[in-house]
Amino acid sequence: MVPVTFWDCGGGLDRAFHCGIQLRADSFAGERPPCPRNCPGPVHNHGSYFRYAAPAGDQRERIQRFRCPKCGLTISILPVTRLPYRPVSVARLQAFLDSQAGIGSGLDPPPGALEAGCLHRAWARFQTRGRILQDAFGLLGILHFLAQSGKHSLLGDYRCLRLPA
Ligand SMILES: [Zn+2]
Repeated sequence: MVPVTFWDCGGGLDRAFHCGIQLRADSFAGERPPCPRNCPGPVHNHGSYFRYAAPAGDQRERIQRFRCPKCGLTISILPVTRLPYRPVSVARLQAFLDSQAGIGSGLDPPPGALEAGCLHRAWARFQTRGRILQDAFGLLGILHFLAQSGKHSLLGDYRCLRLPA
C-alpha cells in the first residue's frame, strides 16, 4: 500500500474520499469514533493505510480508517504514541521539549538529521504559540483555558482539531 501523504479538502479531488481528519485512539471511547460533525449513526470501517513510523527509515505502521456515511468525512485513527500531522512520536517529542526546557536528559538515541528538523520545527511552533498565548492570557490563563477546553494545541496543529469545511 502507498502511504497517504496529503489530505486535500479542496474541491479539486473526489472530496468525499480525500477529505479527512486524524484522531488519536485515546480521544474517544469504544471501538470506533463518532462522526466529529455529530452526524447520527455509526461511522463505517473504511480500511487502512500505512504511514511511516518515523521521519527516517522504512518502518511503517497501519492506520485504521473510518468513513461517515452521512457526510463522507474520513477519520484516521492514530495510535496513542502518535500526534496528528507530526511525524515524530509522542515520547520523542516530549523528551525533546523537556530537554529544550532544561529538564530531562535529552533524546536517547540522539535524533538523526530528519528527526532533528521535525523536532526543531515543533519546538519553534510551540514557542511561537506559547508566547502569543502568554502575552494575551498569562501562563495561568493559558493553563486554565487548556484544562477546560482540552482541545487546543500549543504546537499549532489545529487541523487535527478543526473539522474540514
Ligand atoms: Zn458525518
